[in-house]
Amino acid sequence: MIYRKIAIILTVPVLAAVVALTMNRASSELPVWSPSGGQQAAEAGARQADSVLILVNKRLPLSADHEPGDLVVPDIPFTFEGDHEKKHLRRPAARAAESLFAAAKKEGIELFGVSGYRSYKTQNWLWKYNVKKKGESAASRYNAFPGMSEHQTGLALDVTSKSAEYSLTVRFGNTEEGIWLANNAHRFGFIVRYPQGKESITGYAYEPWHIRYVGVEAARTIHDRKLTLEEWADSAVPAGNFEFFPFNLF
Ligand SMILES: [Zn+2]
Repeated sequence: MIYRKIAIILTVPVLAAVVALTMNRASSELPVWSPSGGQQAAEAGARQADSVLILVNKRLPLSADHEPGDLVVPDIPFTFEGDHEKKHLRRPAARAAESLFAAAKKEGIELFGVSGYRSYKTQNWLWKYNVKKKGESAASRYNAFPGMSEHQTGLALDVTSKSAEYSLTVRFGNTEEGIWLANNAHRFGFIVRYPQGKESITGYAYEPWHIRYVGVEAARTIHDRKLTLEEWADSAVPAGNFEFFPFNLF
């Protein structure tokens, strides 16, 4: 009897710890790191299709069949009416966007959504359209090749304002709304994904209108240290730190 009691006393906290750890590991906030850091960490993250930290760029494309399972329409104003694929965001990004837009409004800043989720098929069409219109090299500065657009993750949102004529323009970065967005997006888990002067790292020209949901913790670090998601993935865990490695197993 006494042994059974001891066994129970010992088992309960161990089980609780295992459950806690398992839940922790299941959290979509957790990056998957490889001890060799950088590119490999990014690649590992990119394979975690449902992670809000997924890294997508010209080196790390998504597959044609990548389609998030939790797309919803956020309750925010858009520049257009009616149902459309591009009104969708993944649920965590949608809820965060609602909070972001509401907080902005409280401060007299009126933001509008322009484009959220974009399927591979739509991106494919858009890429061909832009190449035809402006040529491949110009298109590749702003437009993504199919599979290489963050919009396919359902975590990216293009934002504009009346002061920017409801369009996606670099001028938005100098508007009151654009400045507010750059200074406050991180509080809600978003980053300005393609900052000025980081084209060689992100592969894209400055886009003050394109915000990306990564969760509050990563967004704060990226904002405060003036990083890109690529640099953050490289620096978040120093190379050779094996502490996080077991997370790869789950
Ligand atoms: Zn965008």
